[in-house]
Amino acid sequence: DTQDIKILLLENVNKTGQDILRQQGYQVEALKTSLPEDQLIEKIQDVHVIGIRSKTKLTEKVLRQAKNLLVIGCFCIGTNQVDLEYAAKHGIAVFNSPFANSRSVAELVIGEIIVLARQLGDRSNEMHRGFWNKVSAGCWEIRGKTLGIVGYGHIGSQLSVLAEAMGMNVIYYDVVNLMALGTATQVPTLDDLLQEADFVTLHVPELPETKNMIAKPQLDKMKAGSYLINASRGSVVDIPALVDAMRVGKIAGAALDVYPNEPAANGEYFNASLNSFGDDIRSLKNIILTPHIGGSTEEAQRAIGVEVGDALVRYINQGSTIGSVNLPEVNLRSLTRDEREHARFIYIHRNVPGVLRKVNEILGDHNVDKQTTDSKGDIAYLMADVSNVKTSDIKEISDALDALSSRILTRVLY
Ligand code: NAD
Repeated sequence: DTQDIKILLLENVNKTGQDILRQQGYQVEALKTSLPEDQLIEKIQDVHVIGIRSKTKLTEKVLRQAKNLLVIGCFCIGTNQVDLEYAAKHGIAVFNSPFANSRSVAELVIGEIIVLARQLGDRSNEMHRGFWNKVSAGCWEIRGKTLGIVGYGHIGSQLSVLAEAMGMNVIYYDVVNLMALGTATQVPTLDDLLQEADFVTLHVPELPETKNMIAKPQLDKMKAGSYLINASRGSVVDIPALVDAMRVGKIAGAALDVYPNEPAANGEYFNASLNSFGDDIRSLKNIILTPHIGGSTEEAQRAIGVEVGDALVRYINQGSTIGSVNLPEVNLRSLTRDEREHARFIYIHRNVPGVLRKVNEILGDHNVDKQTTDSKGDIAYLMADVSNVKTSDIKEISDALDALSSRILTRVLY
């Protein structure tokens, strides 16, 4: 029953997320802060769900005490505060919210395009220092200019629509063939994009292939007087190479929101031992430096609450793992009310040979309407909807599944 589900939310999870969980009738306790480890260990023992943000460390030591835990909701982007492998091995699903802030990042980039084209950062700094410097040389409208988007995913494609609305031509490069929005055009290679674009903006994931994706050879190929924007990951741009290209005037401006070695807390950053380029970069003209705030808006926080809240409800009520970062992604259509005679079995197990044969022997005497299974590394996740089952059948099936040596967790829904 939903009333039996106990949820602990830490670190002031957004109200949107709390409301979604309360509406389900779950028992929700929401705290404003994270907890010291000993209190966390105490409290985690009897909850089914825990919701955290980035400060709560769910280590093996903590998770070992979480005897009833089914699922962890990270109401944020990152998940490295959680021991994902330990969680998977114990059948605990982990969800996060990777895309709730896409629009916020796209809007930041739109702002930066105009700020760079008009050298607004420099003019504003001069005025702050009391200096009037009215110039039009090297300042441009963005209408009719070409925006080159590298990585046409959640953020890149949003940006494409916004930029066209302001009269820009949009081209994009992606490793996948993707449907162009509006009148944007996909170009076959990164070099094609670099040679054509007045503004190059990066929206690729952090991968070995994207490390230093923009370094000296790529900067050399860019148009003279073009601009570079990076709000993806700090590893994607070779910053010393960018400094050189800006010093010789090849690149007319840049905006960086992400860096190598980003600090965990607010405070001193450009210190020489961490980043040798700090002084160089700060001495340049027309460069916007922001501390990884692309996704930092009130709207994104609310959207994170909704995205993770919904994922938790789907997992608790339906067993769907879509969006899970540590379990295979498996889903079956949710049952309707007139299918009450059904039971849904969830069987999380070690991915060893022969399991499915044994599971099907157990389910084989019943009417299996639908069944699906997938694996991720050592862990497999099976969902089966069985119809015309009585309470006694359900108990028999679940006991038999529980008795298999491959079992990590068995759940019965409905
Ligand atoms: P996404 O996964 O939706 O899109 C990424 C796109 O890049 C995909 O279309 C993929 O096919 C493409 N791609 C992958 N490798 C490529 C390559 N080698 N060359 C060209 N294209 C490639 O991701 P997203 O949500 O749009 O995020 C993009 C980036 O923005 C990520 O690095 C993410 O971490 C970062 N991000 C930053 C902030 C911020 O605050 N600055 C906020 C959110 C996301």
